Amino acid sequence: MKWFKRRKKLQPPEERKTVPDGLWQKCKGCGEILYRKELERNDFVCNNCGYHFRIGSREYIRILLDDGKLIEQDTDISAADPLRFDGYLKKIKEIKEKTGLNEAVATGEGKIGGFEVEFAAMDFSFVGGSMGSVVGEKVKRAILRAIEKEIPLIIVSTSGGARMQEGILSLMQMAKTGSALAELEKARIPYISILLDPTMAGVMASFSSIGDIIISEPGALLGFAGPRVIEQTIKQKLPEGFQRAPFFLEHGFVDTVVERKELKNTVTKILRFFLKKNGKM
Ligand SMILES: [Zn+2]
Repeated sequence: MKWFKRRKKLQPPEERKTVPDGLWQKCKGCGEILYRKELERNDFVCNNCGYHFRIGSREYIRILLDDGKLIEQDTDISAADPLRFDGYLKKIKEIKEKTGLNEAVATGEGKIGGFEVEFAAMDFSFVGGSMGSVVGEKVKRAILRAIEKEIPLIIVSTSGGARMQEGILSLMQMAKTGSALAELEKARIPYISILLDPTMAGVMASFSSIGDIIISEPGALLGFAGPRVIEQTIKQKLPEGFQRAPFFLEHGFVDTVVERKELKNTVTKILRFFLKKNGKM
């Protein structure tokens, strides 16, 4: 009875590799075969067509922070399993071992262009960068440290959305991070949000989309629901490039689209602008 045969299981997003390995790598943009060492030197951007490969939080720490140094905080917070979701903790344990990361976000203090910043970088390879209680708590604490130390906040986001396995508790993180950001605004501390491919759903609908300045990498898929879900819902074909970074730039949702190699330079310029104006930092 082939009618009831299960279709081949799709590879879950977190199983997909972020940083390509192997000696050679085929570019998803132009199909060119790239030498991995060369690609690495170029911060995982194809030098033929400019395609930005997905990379992890460690790479962004190296690319953006002075000397690639983050004084990481809250590395000891770990996911609880309040809903007793089948296999959740086992899965977290496996992903921790596989990625060497402790959660889908790394937070702490570093410097960019000589300016002290509170920094957070998400990682799509950790359960699709999903936001559960740990991600929400770490981001909230980073925001509160920025307020306390009166230093700017930089968050690099990439996420498939809320972490299903924590149910409503993961949705609560949206309100939690949002209200902490309202405090940051009251304290007149600048917040630069950097969006990577993809930044979606609960993360996009909370802290990622309320930066004072919102920067996106080229080609990033951004939004709440993905294009496939929207097409199925409205039963219409979406226009070419819908929900990609240039579309958002055109519609004013993103302030600027910046190539990876220019990212640090751009953030430094923005920090200089804010800090000169503000004077107190
Ligand atoms: Zn290419």
